[in-house]
Amino acid sequence: MVTYPNAHIRAEAGDPRRFWNLVCETWSRIAEAGRAEIDAHWRTLLDGFDPQEWPRILLARDWEGRGPRDWGMCNEKGLSLHFFAPIIEEMPDDVAHLLIAHELGHVVEFARWRPGMPGSKADMEAAVWQITEGWGLPASALRRWEDLRRESLDKGDRNFVVRVHW
Ligand SMILES: [Zn+2]
Repeated sequence: MVTYPNAHIRAEAGDPRRFWNLVCETWSRIAEAGRAEIDAHWRTLLDGFDPQEWPRILLARDWEGRGPRDWGMCNEKGLSLHFFAPIIEEMPDDVAHLLIAHELGHVVEFARWRPGMPGSKADMEAAVWQITEGWGLPASALRRWEDLRRESLDKGDRNFVVRVHW
């Protein structure tokens, strides 16, 4: 059974129908406890936000604060997720699921964060990797796809080691 997150799923670029399906398929692949944690976090955050607009999961070509190598981003303590339309278009469905799961993992990371906890970017990413690994949606598989793609784009350039961000 396909379930869907209690969030506004919109596409400002790319294929809205496919994006909606990708988000819902990803959501269905996340363990029930993980979905409950995300839902609960969103509910606690909604105070002061218009529920007609938030939480939101957007497919876009650009957004405020997007760096040139950002494929996905989680903002507003988890209320706002963005995905870069051209890369979602390139990805097979099961790889796109991993990217979407990663950003949803950031929502869980925000939910679990308490003042005084380590909060460096690297700490947060490591925690998110653990979370999505637990869902069976490992970031390592996404990294592999990214590596293969880079190799095919940059054959012969051994110095090209720039990582994308998600
Ligand atoms: Zn991340």
